[in-house]
Amino acid sequence: MSKTVGTIWNEALEFIKDNVDEQCYETWFSTIKPIKIQGIVLTVQVPSKFFYEYLEENYISLLKAAITKSLGEGAKLVYSIVMENSYDNNIPPTMKLPSSGRRKHKPQSVNMPVAITNEKSIKNPFVIPGLQKLNIDSQLNPNYTFDNFIEGDCNRLARSAGLAVGKSPGGTSFNPLMLYGGVGLGKTHLAHSIGVEIKDNYPEKTVLYVSAEKFTQQFIDSIRNNSKNDFVHFYQMIDVLIIDDVQSFSGKEKTQDVFFEIFNHLHQNGKQIILTSDRAPVELQGMEQRLLSRFKWGLSADLQKPGLETRVAILGKKLYNDGIEVEQDIVEFIAYSINSNVRELEGALISILAQSSLNKKQITMELVKSMVDKFVKSTTREISIDFIQKVVCDYFDMPLELLKSKTRKREIVQARQLSMYFSKQLTKNSLASIGQQCGNKDHATVLHACRTVNNLKETDKRFKTYVDDLQKRLTLA
Ligand code: ADP
Ligand code: MG
Repeated sequence: MSKTVGTIWNEALEFIKDNVDEQCYETWFSTIKPIKIQGIVLTVQVPSKFFYEYLEENYISLLKAAITKSLGEGAKLVYSIVMENSYDNNIPPTMKLPSSGRRKHKPQSVNMPVAITNEKSIKNPFVIPGLQKLNIDSQLNPNYTFDNFIEGDCNRLARSAGLAVGKSPGGTSFNPLMLYGGVGLGKTHLAHSIGVEIKDNYPEKTVLYVSAEKFTQQFIDSIRNNSKNDFVHFYQMIDVLIIDDVQSFSGKEKTQDVFFEIFNHLHQNGKQIILTSDRAPVELQGMEQRLLSRFKWGLSADLQKPGLETRVAILGKKLYNDGIEVEQDIVEFIAYSINSNVRELEGALISILAQSSLNKKQITMELVKSMVDKFVKSTTREISIDFIQKVVCDYFDMPLELLKSKTRKREIVQARQLSMYFSKQLTKNSLASIGQQCGNKDHATVLHACRTVNNLKETDKRFKTYVDDLQKRLTLA
């Protein structure tokens, strides 16, 4: 007498029960419904595509063994998937989403013999045919590593939080990790570094880097192609999701909704989320409140403009990586001159290197000055007081501390007065702020310094030479 479908499935379940722990059994197997048996082909119903994929990925051999035991060699398993608009109560608690959707009972047969790979699979918006989790290309740039990301006061918190996440994705309280800061300050680099680090430490984890814009585009495409569920399921399979420049979600409600759904799913399953934004979460306009509040669940860390030391270190590292030797003076000069952001700093370095190699010229201070001049002029440059002080100190060969000290020695007073004079001439700083940065003097002292320099350059020939030389060095004439 042939067995009923119920009996067959119960036998299979008995076997499965002996081989997995209780929670796993409850979550993944007790919800499967046997539908029919035809010869040695057993059809079962599963609640979602996600569910089916999960089973395929994690329990394929167990299922095969169970079915074979009950039906004999050559047994086949066919899944019938409940078409869903959204999730509902049939989903195990760990996967439950806040939305409560209707559900169409339109079973969709996926003819899927056990042990043969998916014949129908979720459409991967990254266009990799026949999706298999491990085949998802992480879209990471392998050159963006922690090793290449110079640490400084400007990025210490963000960098170390990133490292912690890299060591233990989903295992820290930094979830989501939100990196924010102005353009060219290293958000994208750092975000990739975390992904690269995770891939190194956990090759089996699925990491995905995507810009918020690309995500939006894929979402719109999925609506157009009627494959929104595939889109959502695809993203829900990711272990570490990195979304760059989330400020571009602003004002896009539908995209925010779908991201919210994905975010919740991933977060509830202990998956890591890393976001970047060009401004702090509180300053994100046009973003749904519920999404903003999610962003605040984890850690927001900002990236600031690097200080001089960090800029020197960044240039040094780039040169070292490229195997190029440049005198330290020159490196410092570039770092002094360009203080807007790291991208511009790199841009200047690249043009200098290109110039030198095209014209087969040595990288000399002269070449660098003329290049930096062009570069900086085209990007609205402002000479800083720091820079002026450095040039003056170099010129007189005296340490910066002396310039900023209270010493009344003549040469030092002179250098200090020259720094103040040029700061007034070449920067937009107020007298008070110049005084404050030149050894904590008041505005009257700065005014006095400017007058003295003007007088001396008329009356003292040697002094005039100082002024002219410094003027040249400072304005790169
Ligand atoms: P953002 O995404 O914040 O606009 P990017 O990550 O694209 O900035 O960084 C711009 C450039 O500066 C990249 O080439 C990056 O490698 C480099 N960069 C930024 N910060 C650092 C750093 N701390 N160390 C080394 N390179 C950096
Ligand atoms: Mg970026």
